[in-house]
Amino acid sequence: MSTTTGQIIRCKAAVAWEAGKPLVMEEVEVAPPQKHEVRIKILFTSLCHTDVYFWEAKGQTPLFPRIFGHEAGGIVESVGEGVTDLQPGDHVLPIFTGECGDCPHCHSEESNMCDLLRINTERGGMIHDGESRFSIKGKPIHHFLGTSTFSEYTVVHSGQVAKINPDAPLDKVCIVSCGLSTGLGATLNVAKPKKGQSVAIFGLGAVGLAAAEGARIAGASRIIGVDLNPSRFDQAKKFGVTEFVNPKDHDKPVQQVIAEMTNGGVDRSVECTGSVQAMIQAFECVHDGWGVAVLVGVPSKDDAFKSHPMNFLNERTLKGTFFGNYKPKTDIPGVVEKYMNKELEIEKFITHTVPFSEINKAFDYMLKGESIRCIITMGA
Ligand code: NAD
Ligand code: ZN
Repeated sequence: MSTTTGQIIRCKAAVAWEAGKPLVMEEVEVAPPQKHEVRIKILFTSLCHTDVYFWEAKGQTPLFPRIFGHEAGGIVESVGEGVTDLQPGDHVLPIFTGECGDCPHCHSEESNMCDLLRINTERGGMIHDGESRFSIKGKPIHHFLGTSTFSEYTVVHSGQVAKINPDAPLDKVCIVSCGLSTGLGATLNVAKPKKGQSVAIFGLGAVGLAAAEGARIAGASRIIGVDLNPSRFDQAKKFGVTEFVNPKDHDKPVQQVIAEMTNGGVDRSVECTGSVQAMIQAFECVHDGWGVAVLVGVPSKDDAFKSHPMNFLNERTLKGTFFGNYKPKTDIPGVVEKYMNKELEIEKFITHTVPFSEINKAFDYMLKGESIRCIITMGA
């Protein structure tokens, strides 16, 4: 047992006090883990666009002060009552959607939408008692996605913690805890392209590039990348993207541009932008008869998806997924092993690294469209 077990830990956290304002480094108090919870020392975290949306709170419900962050790697410091599958010293990835192991979804091979621990962006406390484990001078600070990894220590429900190979470098595999698995799984587990088929990827950030990686692994013959930011195209070549479409370069709808390039439409498409227009385009650009489109981007609260019903009658399929349909505890250790066996490359996703004290730079890089993933090193 470490000397901190059962004690409050004081450590640094980057707190978002207000929507869209730079995070502030604060000393926070992190309470010990309660029933079915673990306290994790975060070593590396990175920034995903989902953090940015809820921090900007433009199209999402604001909840402040809050500690964001959900893509990370760390080491278990202590465990609460009833936790039997994790112990101090385990190398882990906290995951924004969980697996209780007991509900109909966890028992179904087809779903990762755990009844107890599925993603919940509105919740600011822990499931056990609705309370926060973070405070500053007695004032509670809200959690985000049950992970809040922009803190040197965090408390997470044990069902949201994947135990991984301790030899895996956490500064790399931390991105498996969201972006990489989400995109990869969206293609391999949900879109399921057949060898030789064509795939369009909308949005060439980390999630979209991981989706492209999935298409390459599946043996897609053409991988068409769609993005509004032309600087993405050079980077995307390293991920097997074979052709590029910038909607700004065309005066006709992207759906039509893609239909003309592919003799009627792509076999599969994966949307990784968060723009509802791109979601509609991704659906309408798949081939009739067999095309499948998968939505991954997180929409704004008031968005509505509008497409003519005939597009469905013409035998196009629309799907969506959280976390690429991976079950976090069951499947994620295996994704890390794919990296360890050199079947998956992670390094090429990491374009920037900053010390924790400069975490706001990671936001700038993402907002300017400069980074794919920026790793934030804790304790630096
Ligand atoms: P990112 O900002 O790194 O990449 C998004 C890319 O989309 C950018 O290159 C941007 O230029 C492009 N883009 C934006 N609007 C576009 C449009 N209308 N047409 C074409 N391209 C457009 O973001 P990311 O971290 O890769 O995340 C991508 C999306 O996936 C976000 O919406 C994020 O919230 C979501 N996400 C979903 C899940 C899930 O489980 N479903 C998990 C993680 C992230
Ligand atoms: Zn994410």
